[in-house]
Amino acid sequence: MPETIEPGTVWLVGAGPGDPDLLTRKAEKLIAATDIVFYDALVGPGILDLIPARIERVSVGKRSGRHSKDQDSINDLLLAAAQTGKRVVRLKGGDPAIFGRTAEEVEHLSAHGVRVRICPGITAASAAVASAGSSLTLRGSARKLTFITAHMRAGDEPETDWAALADRQSTLAIYMGKAAASEIASHLIRSGRSRSTPVLVVENASLPDERLVQTRLDLLAVATSASVTDGPAVLIIGEAVSPHKRSMATGVDVLQSTRAD
Ligand code: SAH
Repeated sequence: MPETIEPGTVWLVGAGPGDPDLLTRKAEKLIAATDIVFYDALVGPGILDLIPARIERVSVGKRSGRHSKDQDSINDLLLAAAQTGKRVVRLKGGDPAIFGRTAEEVEHLSAHGVRVRICPGITAASAAVASAGSSLTLRGSARKLTFITAHMRAGDEPETDWAALADRQSTLAIYMGKAAASEIASHLIRSGRSRSTPVLVVENASLPDERLVQTRLDLLAVATSASVTDGPAVLIIGEAVSPHKRSMATGVDVLQSTRAD
């Protein structure tokens, strides 16, 4: 079925983690049926190439030092485009429902009577564990999954419940966490999480320059400081990303991706 968009409607569309083959079929139909696409910095060239040339595209993201448009300006741009009767796609990295500022956009547009619809996408944590041949949950030993952003840095949000996050049955998928990695590790260890808890760090998940590092909680700071790219990274902490039978040579090991091109 070809996807159609009512004029004046805004679709918030998940672009997935970067590999164009991980875009949903629905997302691909929507970006071909729209008049204008507003996209984030995390939406890379492979995805942008799928937008037909006749369709207007507007970057609303930040990249290397340049400031992103603030959320209010993005809300206003989306609203203005919809109010002129355009079909609008707002393309977001991963899944719009995970750290995607979706609620703000839905609220602003709805308050002005604009119809908003959402197309989900594959989130970075899913792509990260897939590339490692791993999982986010593990029967019996990882029965909880918590998505966290590292804006939970020490001091910023005193209400962070580190004791709950230190629960050994829980997998933590930490977004925007590379810079705060050592603080996160020390908080978790201080709250009782084992120093040898497995950690997977994945940069540029699903992309050709993907990098996977397997380590343990007490070596996480070393692993992230040795990072060579400034690409987006997700940290996965917990028994679910245990190296299993893979031998850990140094405690900070670069893994072969199971991603197939
Ligand atoms: N909505 C997105 C997350 C947006 S927050 C999603 O569902 O994936 C931005 C953060 O997502 C980045 O700082 C990084 O932590 C993570 N991220 C996004 N794409 C990624 C990728 N290809 N590889 C690793 N992490 C990624």
